[in-house]
Amino acid sequence: MAALSPAVAAAWLADYAQVVAQNADLLTDLDRRIGDADHGSNMHRGMSAVAALAADDFDDAAALLKKAGMTLVNTVGGASGPLYGTFFLRLAKALPADGDIDAAQWGTALRAGLQGIIDRGKASVGDKTMVDALTPALEAYDAAVADGADVAAALRAAADGAARGRDATIDLVARKGRASYLGERSRGTQDPGATSLTMLLDSAARTLG
Ligand SMILES: [Mg+2]
Repeated sequence: MAALSPAVAAAWLADYAQVVAQNADLLTDLDRRIGDADHGSNMHRGMSAVAALAADDFDDAAALLKKAGMTLVNTVGGASGPLYGTFFLRLAKALPADGDIDAAQWGTALRAGLQGIIDRGKASVGDKTMVDALTPALEAYDAAVADGADVAAALRAAADGAARGRDATIDLVARKGRASYLGERSRGTQDPGATSLTMLLDSAARTLG
């Protein structure tokens, strides 16, 4: 893989911003069914601000990813801004500043990001949240690394694991956030946060691998 640099990190963020823009209506529609119909517009606003950050303004990739996290916390309302912002802040803190980062180091950083989301959102596996995509993603990532996968292959495994977790949220009853007010009626809809989180890891697999 290419060594991590501000330009490589910016390519990941720009790719994700584009995917979010293309899928904003889908994310908002899912949130309309079980939430408050703002997930697509919130993520679109936040990632547009993140994509506007200039790689040249940062000494290393971790500094850019930290700024991305702060930008999401500051520009996105609702739960998703603080949750995605915390993911990037913890990821940035756990990553070597830039350079050649191996699969184990990426795994440690991604796990730190997941823990940040759990600390912030207090969600567990099975609550029908983004944790239900990220947890199987990291299990698949670690299994791939144990089998000798490089960063690219491990990130692809993670994205596929996230997609399986995302699909499994359809049958779950929400136990966190606004969707939990619906109780049984939340069953049958794919979780919007698990959906956008899967898109983030798919972007990572395409741009970081
Ligand atoms: Mg919402």
